Amino acid sequence: IRAKFSTVLDEDEDTAAYILVLSDVTEQEKIEAERREFVSNVSHELRTPLTTMRSYIEALTDGAWQDESIAPRFLQVTQNETERMIRMVNDLLQLSKMDSRDYKLEQERVDFIAFFHEVIDRFEMNVPEHISFSRELPPQRMFVWIDRDKMIQVLDNVISNAIKYSPDGGKIYFRAIKQKHRILASVEDEGMGIPYDKVDKVFERFYRADKARSRKLGGTGLGLAISKELVEAHQGDIWAKSREGKGTTVFIALPLMGRDRGAGK
Ligand code: ADP
Repeated sequence: IRAKFSTVLDEDEDTAAYILVLSDVTEQEKIEAERREFVSNVSHELRTPLTTMRSYIEALTDGAWQDESIAPRFLQVTQNETERMIRMVNDLLQLSKMDSRDYKLEQERVDFIAFFHEVIDRFEMNVPEHISFSRELPPQRMFVWIDRDKMIQVLDNVISNAIKYSPDGGKIYFRAIKQKHRILASVEDEGMGIPYDKVDKVFERFYRADKARSRKLGGTGLGLAISKELVEAHQGDIWAKSREGKGTTVFIALPLMGRDRGAGK
């Protein structure tokens, strides 16, 4: 609350009136502070890959291009960083569209279980050898009202994180159960986990529990923030549970379509 105090004298200047104006500026200031922080984050996030690229390009220009043992590696780094920046700018554009509500969902009736299987199949074809999948999905159908492409994006983010942060020999569990009026899907990994006081923060823009590692793995720090916006646009919920060193489970809850509501156990 901002307080503004002023004194007003009458014409004879012998009586004074005091005016106290109280205005609630907290919300406004909070939004303004968030905006400033966001702009500063974006600048910082883009500057990092740019300065990395500059130093590699400088080295190449200074003669490293002639050295066959290092030039390809340096070029690879600049290519990776460029690609990461493109991903980041695309993510930012998508977030900005979502902020201005300048997008609409193309929702349709979808059997979530079949849909979840399809998304997992796509990953399973290219899953790294050191990771295995375990599906614990019920045989019955469960209908939800979703935008397939957007929900694929959500699951892609969550599953690729599970893969990225899994150890050698790690297993990833896919589950879905019907609750009263919603479906609760989850992806559990046996990875490094997230410290308990950081687990909610990973859904914030640019938040990473481990910055260096995320960057090395090509992360933008925006995937889960976008996923959260998208799930909430479907009147759903997304959250995570984690134990450091043991693994992480990301839960996605989506409302079941009318006919299926309450039909679960
Ligand atoms: P990033 O591009 O960095 O992966 P995300 O928004 O997808 O960005 O995730 C934010 C952060 O949450 C990651 O940097 C990582 O620290 C943490 N995180 C997400 N998923 C997992 C997971 N399955 N295991 C451990 N940490 C995770």
